[in-house]
Amino acid sequence: MKSAIQQINNRIAEACRRSGRSRDEVRLVAVTKTVPVPVILQAYQLGIQAFAENRAQDFREKAPALPADIEWHFIGHLQTNKIKYVAPRTQLIHSVDSWHLAQALAEYAKQNQVSCPVLLQVNTTGEESKSGVPPEEALDLFGEIQRLSALRLKGLMTIGPFTDDEKQIRQAFRRLVKIQEQLLKFVTAEAISILSMGMSHDFEIAIEEGSTMVRIGSAIFGPRGR
Ligand SMILES: *Cc1c(COP(=O)(O)O)cnc(C)c1O
Repeated sequence: MKSAIQQINNRIAEACRRSGRSRDEVRLVAVTKTVPVPVILQAYQLGIQAFAENRAQDFREKAPALPADIEWHFIGHLQTNKIKYVAPRTQLIHSVDSWHLAQALAEYAKQNQVSCPVLLQVNTTGEESKSGVPPEEALDLFGEIQRLSALRLKGLMTIGPFTDDEKQIRQAFRRLVKIQEQLLKFVTAEAISILSMGMSHDFEIAIEEGSTMVRIGSAIFGPRGR
């Protein structure tokens, strides 16, 4: 795993260099779905600070068993009845994709006086199997969520298409950047500073297109068995 992490870090640095960006503009988040606690601990000891889970139940079981200074992210579909397991211990929820969820999160944040940083997830590929709001609804929903003062909206997230076609992948990421650019006319740069895009198979393209946060699982931990 040590050399896998080194390779990922090198490839991130190289993609930053190629696109004239500074290395510290891009954050690595290690995706630990299906990865057992001892393996996560190993990655932590090898210097990874930020980890992400996509299921509330897994998150609930693993997080307490790991060092308290780990930065946790949540990247999966979140049901409102699971907010209480996720919100108190996550630094960023990448997967807000409805007004209903945003409102429930804001309510939770207010009642429990926790800060709740979130991203709006956009479905940039139009695939029905993917969550996220359609691009044409993203601007309005972003504006509405921003008015929920208990939430801290920090940017946008998307999942690229599962294809080897680089053009299609780029197109999806460009769609997200375009939405960011449109939003910059209405909101401060701070409110839209994070672009979470790029996974094991496409993070270099994502960085070239402007990603500030890559979510990498299998390239670090190996293929996932189910
Ligand atoms: C699983 C997952 C990832 C990581 O995928 P890999 O291809 O293993 O890097 C990233 N983002 C989300 C939302 C995921 O569900």
